[in-house]
Amino acid sequence: MTSLVDPWDRTIDYLRIAVTDRCNLRCFYCMPAEGIDYLPKKELLTYEEIIRLSTVFASLGVRKLRLTGGEPFLRRDFIALLRELKKIPGIDAVHITTNGVLTYPYLEELNAIGIDGVNLSLDSLDKQNFHQITRRDEFDTVMKTLDGLLDYGISTKINMVVMQDKNAHEVIEMAKLARERKISVRFIEEMPFNGSDNSTSKQNWSHIKILEELKANFPSITKLDSHPSNPATLYQIPGHHGNLGIIPAYSRTFCGACNRIRLTATGTIKNCLYDEGVLDVKSLLRSTKSDEQIRDILISTVQKKEKDGFVAEKNRMVDKNITESMSTIGG
Ligand code: SAM
Repeated sequence: MTSLVDPWDRTIDYLRIAVTDRCNLRCFYCMPAEGIDYLPKKELLTYEEIIRLSTVFASLGVRKLRLTGGEPFLRRDFIALLRELKKIPGIDAVHITTNGVLTYPYLEELNAIGIDGVNLSLDSLDKQNFHQITRRDEFDTVMKTLDGLLDYGISTKINMVVMQDKNAHEVIEMAKLARERKISVRFIEEMPFNGSDNSTSKQNWSHIKILEELKANFPSITKLDSHPSNPATLYQIPGHHGNLGIIPAYSRTFCGACNRIRLTATGTIKNCLYDEGVLDVKSLLRSTKSDEQIRDILISTVQKKEKDGFVAEKNRMVDKNITESMSTIGG
């Protein structure tokens, strides 16, 4: 079988799909207070287009899909899309990333379709601080979703973007979430994707500093083995049911084992979070091109994958400064 292999001999088997650019939170590290300019619906890929493209990717060896956004549950009939993606031959796992605001009512269906995992974004365990960071008063709803996920036994990871003067003081409390719960709590370095070109991101909280903080409070913490393509370095605190992860999203120390490619909400392929988009696949899907022709174009697109996120960022041609919101890219 043909597979997607980049010039650095990395096999691409993981596709992240942003299904919408809309979000019902306004996390300041992701978008400005007034939000971003949402695109007309016709600019977004239809479900049929997403399913067709995922099927082509599966025929090229992609095995795992992650659906994200924007907030994926804002898209109508999102569960119906998941159900179809689960049926694609070759796709072994379908995961979602959600902020948990609209998710709770769908937990039973998520469980029924056999969702393989949910990443829940949670930047604070303090109701008021949560409100300040997300500019919305949805803390209780998100916590209800977390409890519900665990009640259904759905594999769950928490994503916390660690930020100086905002929530860094909560790292230890957040880590304790994994004491009684069988979840992975992941601490993410803030990246410059906040929908403007005056990013607030100063790397005050690097992966090194996050680990120091954890070690100072949990001296018996140990490193776990994890798959090389996992961007998170995993840790275990003895006696804790769950584990911890640190994701050097800004330091980009994991690029060497990258196995992923991204599809933005507007139908652009990104070989790297930090590139500015390498293929307008929406136009291809809306042209007379056959699946075989699209397959060949995808194979050659992966040939443009840069060695790492630093090179990808440096080689940006149009938008030298990163001005995208993570909401469009999908995180
Ligand atoms: N709305 C969904 C959610 O909140 O999980 C999915 C989309 S969101 C863009 C996906 C992930 O990207 C979230 O975990 C979020 O915390 C992370 N993210 C967004 N902006 C980021 C930034 N500037 N730096 C690091 N992570 C970011």
